[in-house]
Parts: sequence; C-alpha cells; structure tokens
Amino acid sequence: MFYFKDVIGQQVAKEKLKQEVREGRIPHAQLFCGPQGSGKLPLALAYARYLCCSNRNGEDACGTCPSCIKWNKLVHPDVHFMFPIVKSAKGKKELCDDYIANWRHLLTTTPYFSLNHWLDEMGAENGQAIIYAKESDEITRKLSLKSVEGGYKITLVWLPEKLHEVCANKLLKLLEEPPEQTIFLLVSENPEMILPTILSRTQRFNVPGIAEEDVEIALCERYGIQPEDSKAIAHIANGNFIKALETISLNEENQQFFDLFVSLMRLAWQRKIREMKQWSEQVAALGRERQKNFLDYCQRMTRENFIFNLHRKELNYLTRQEENFATRFSPFVNERNVTGIMQELSEAQLHIGQNVNPRMVFFDFALKMIMLLKQ
Ligand SMILES: [Zn+2]
Repeated sequence: MFYFKDVIGQQVAKEKLKQEVREGRIPHAQLFCGPQGSGKLPLALAYARYLCCSNRNGEDACGTCPSCIKWNKLVHPDVHFMFPIVKSAKGKKELCDDYIANWRHLLTTTPYFSLNHWLDEMGAENGQAIIYAKESDEITRKLSLKSVEGGYKITLVWLPEKLHEVCANKLLKLLEEPPEQTIFLLVSENPEMILPTILSRTQRFNVPGIAEEDVEIALCERYGIQPEDSKAIAHIANGNFIKALETISLNEENQQFFDLFVSLMRLAWQRKIREMKQWSEQVAALGRERQKNFLDYCQRMTRENFIFNLHRKELNYLTRQEENFATRFSPFVNERNVTGIMQELSEAQLHIGQNVNPRMVFFDFALKMIMLLKQ
C-alpha cells in the first residue's frame, strides 16, 4: 500500500512526480489540488514513500528497505502527518498524534476518503474539525529533530485549509525558512481557502479527475465488481473514486449479497436449521446468473476475511461495510477451514452450472457451513 502502483489511474501525474525525483528537482513544498476522489492523498503518499525509499527504482519504491518496512505501517519516524481533528471532551485529545491510530487505520483501509469518513473514524460525526493552534509547537519540535533514517523529513498536511490561524502562521514561517532536508506536501480540497502567503510559497501540483476507464478497471480487479456494474458505476463516479466506493456499498446487488452472506454465517453459527432452509429458498429465487455471482461474492468474502487475519491491510479490498463485518467475522475463517469453504463454494458453483436444483445446492452448502465454522 502507498505505492504508485496502488494509485488508481493518474499515469501522467505519477510520471511527473517520479521525474521530479529522478532529475533531483524536488520542490520543498508542493500543494496537491484537484477534485474530490481524484487521488491527491494517495499520490502524495506514494510520492512521500518514493522519496523516503533508499532503494527506489524508476517505477516505484522498493518495498524492502528499512524505510519501506516502516512505511507499511505508517510508522516512519521522519514522516509527520497533520490533519484536522475534533477536540475531545475535557480536551484530552487535542493533537494530531492523539488520533494517529485512527488516521493509520483509515489510510490502510483505503486512502480514498472524504472529511466525513474521517469524522466518522474519529467518532465525531457532527464535529467541526480543524488543525489546532497547539499543533504548531508539535510541528516545530518534530522538525527540529535530526532525520532518523538520514533521508528527507516529510510533513504531509491533509486539508491545510483547516489550519488554525496560529498554526498557519507557523507553517508559513517553516515554508519561508525550511529546516534542512525538509519537504512539505499539502493536500487540499479548497486551495482558495488557504492563506495567500502560504499559497505563494508552494508549488502547485494539479491532479485531474481519474479517467473513467481506470475507475472501471479498479472496481473490477480490486473489488470484484461485475464488469457491467463496474462500467456503470465508473460512469456515475465521474472521475471520483470516493464516490465510486460509496456507490458500490449502495449498489443493490452488492448489498443483497452482503446481507445474504452475513445472515447465512449467523444462522450457521447458531445452527438455525429451519431459517437456513428459508435462506436457501431465498437464494434459489435469485435466478441462475445471480446465483453464480453470489457464489463468486462468497468466495471473495471468504478470501478477504482469511486475509484480514494476517493484518496486512494492503492486501485487502473491502468496502467499509464489509470491513466492519470482517473485524468480527474474520477469526472464523482460518487455516483449518478456509480450503474446505472454498471447495464447497466451487462445488456449489459447478452444480449450479449443471442445473442441479438450487434449493438443494444452497441448503447443502449452508449445512456444511455449520461444520466448517466450528473448525
Ligand atoms: Zn524502499
């Protein structure tokens, strides 16, 4: 995660950024601007990882050097994040670092998110998030330290338009007289709200909306969305991948499959045979094509939940709702039963293809899940 290859589309932007590094023309402050969901933040992250990597090639960071290892968990000591937060009651949380666990969690889930998703993550749905004045002392302190890894010190400011005035002035000072080997990456949704003095100190990097075709491919390959749906969603999303992700979770078929999968797993765990019979009748009513798609969906969910246990978020592709479920369900998919579940699913797939009565196929599968989940 956080590689150039993970950024959806944006070939031209990626190439420009890599070229800056290759030619050693690295601006000390860049402002990433562009429409929502275009991937400004993932691009800035990939660029930052690339700058930190001690063994980068022409295409991407290496993934194995000490810096890359730290990047995997977003714990690089020379990379600092500033982002708007909501002060908690009693003022116990008033610095970005007080929310760093939430920040890492959201970024590793997907770096394509909006301010609203971030507010949800902080548990502050209706809060007013800003970067507080107190943060300015923090950033001064952090940047006065020597680089731990001996490379660049990078400060990534997400939504600089939310800086408190005191903090904005401090940042301005740092931009005017940057400490050695320090790079600032600002990622803004509303550059016109940023202090003009800050704007004039940064080099603007414009990120356009993502090409429709690139959104389509990403939905298909990473999220297992059917090709026709991917095409339709990509069209609606109009270059905004955050919107595309929201559409998938609202996508009718995906929602139905998710609900069916969740209810089967609950019923199997509770051994509710009668309800399982009703469940298989419900699935049997879907029609053969959708039954096949549903079995594909079950295979994907099984695989994703198994991977979820490895705590390697960069390997997971789940919608927010699916991820939420995986936090509770994933321990039930493990080394002992994952092969068995996948085998049962491909057998069901085969039988549906051979026109076996779907009521029998799905009821049989449901019963087997009782045994498999107990392993
Ligand atoms: Zn590396």
